Amino acid sequence: MIAPFEYEANPARVIFGQDTIARVSEEAERLNAERVLVLSTPQQAADAERVADLLGQRSAGIFSQATMHTPVEVTETALREVDRLRVDSTLAIGGGSTTGLGKAIAYRTDVPQIVVPTTYAGSEMTTILGETKQGRKTTIRDPKVLPETVIYDVKLTLGLPAALSGSSGMNAMAHAVEALYAENGNPLLSLVAEQGVRHLSRSLPTIAETPTDLPARTDALYGAWLCAMCLGTSGVALHHKLCHVLGGSFDLPHAETHTIILPHAVAYNQPAIPEAIDALRRALNTDEPANALFELAGKLRAPRGLSEVGMLEADLPKAADILLENPFWNPRSLDREEIERLLMNAYDGRRPQP
Ligand code: NAD
Repeated sequence: MIAPFEYEANPARVIFGQDTIARVSEEAERLNAERVLVLSTPQQAADAERVADLLGQRSAGIFSQATMHTPVEVTETALREVDRLRVDSTLAIGGGSTTGLGKAIAYRTDVPQIVVPTTYAGSEMTTILGETKQGRKTTIRDPKVLPETVIYDVKLTLGLPAALSGSSGMNAMAHAVEALYAENGNPLLSLVAEQGVRHLSRSLPTIAETPTDLPARTDALYGAWLCAMCLGTSGVALHHKLCHVLGGSFDLPHAETHTIILPHAVAYNQPAIPEAIDALRRALNTDEPANALFELAGKLRAPRGLSEVGMLEADLPKAADILLENPFWNPRSLDREEIERLLMNAYDGRRPQP
């Protein structure tokens, strides 16, 4: 029987395909965007220049200083460019870090945003803005930061290095996994989540071997969009909360941390989420989803232990303290000893323990 639910969709225009980047000018026109500031990281400055060329007269300039964790200091520098160049919109081309800068600008100015994602992080479909000020990470939810138009161009993901593709894809899957058991989950979202996990789990191993495989890249980017929708409309639980603590307080890398924690978070919650486990069994074609996610990370040659990404064993109890300091919803109650055991397993890169 369908349990009662509430559902709210995020308004966004999505374009998906190959060579869709050619449509940026047309999409800018739709938004009445006449002075677009193109955003990227320094590593993707060439992509930014290409988009600025495609925008032609609609390009007001390029700001290629987006960086990890969306520091407020970088946003302030970008805002000075917004003023100086009389910018009326932004176009972010890149991963979650660049999307984050666009959202931070929109939060302060409400200018419309076009986002061209080139990883699987999923920030483009959410109303969440994470930023850091003097090393402290804050998270804001505000409809103002939701991008108006998202252009997925599969060809732009062909150059995403194999290692980052794997961990970024696992990061996306984590959004879907938590949507399957979210407090505010619903049957539509569960369909989307299951399908997102299916597409990513079957395409990522091919990408790990051949990063330029176009059908696999198409599958993965489509899956990433589905997973992004999950994060955009559902709440999160143990997995995202723990990754937030590990990334925010111990400066661990975002996508890799998600990859390491996901199998352990699923194993921890398994006794309380039978329907979600059934969906994951179908999507991953396995009887043991937590173990299958651990195996998948291995196939992708992604790190599987927190010790490999800079965590100190001595800090594990502190991570548990910070996690449990502010209560949050989780399908299974949070037991301090069990959480420490989870962290120790994840630290050592051991198989998830039921
Ligand atoms: P990222 O944006 O930091 O990108 C990592 C590096 O890869 C950058 O140098 C980038 O320029 C480069 N890169 C990206 N795409 C490439 C491509 N196709 N080819 C070659 N190089 C490419 O990494 P990410 O994992 O996409 O994003 C992580 C950030 O996003 C974190 O700060 C996280 O908090 C945030 N995030 C936010 C949300 C949200 O809803 N607010 C959701 C998910 C992630």
